[in-house]
Amino acid sequence: MEYPIFKYMANAKEFLNYSEDGVVCDCCGKTTNIFTDNMYTAKRINAICVDCIKSGEACKKFDGEFNTVTIIDNKEAIDELVHKTPAIQTFQEIDWPACCNDFCKFLRIFTDVDFENEQIWEDIKETFDEDEEGYSIDYVKEMDLSYLLLYKCEICGKHHIKIDVD
Ligand SMILES: [Zn+2]
Ligand SMILES: [Zn+2]
Repeated sequence: MEYPIFKYMANAKEFLNYSEDGVVCDCCGKTTNIFTDNMYTAKRINAICVDCIKSGEACKKFDGEFNTVTIIDNKEAIDELVHKTPAIQTFQEIDWPACCNDFCKFLRIFTDVDFENEQIWEDIKETFDEDEEGYSIDYVKEMDLSYLLLYKCEICGKHHIKIDVD
């Protein structure tokens, strides 16, 4: 099964649903195996297929948004992330981090390997806003790794994290 590539998401497989039997896309009416049911919209959504995510059609049709973002001066990037990138499932509403006037790519939930990676912590020391997040870096280091979302700026290469406490 081929999973789609999204500009701002390294591993979309983790956050898309899969149905062996297939479900009908609410937007185009085609039967699909890979879909999302995660969208901010006033309408009731059962399933949106990958094509309708990528094209932005689903957001147009249901007046919806997949992600909330930090506002940057880059309309194209905002459109791509808000309307054409599936949501990552989080407990908190997380504003997708930006860097170098573009959005970071979501890599994964933190792993032990990431925790041991000094370069990542060097980056985070620079990119993490303790006041805005409400946590100090030292405190973050004590947190359960599953609360830490790891992102990377594809332009400068620096890592960013967001906290998602359940
Ligand atoms: Zn569709
Ligand atoms: Zn950057």
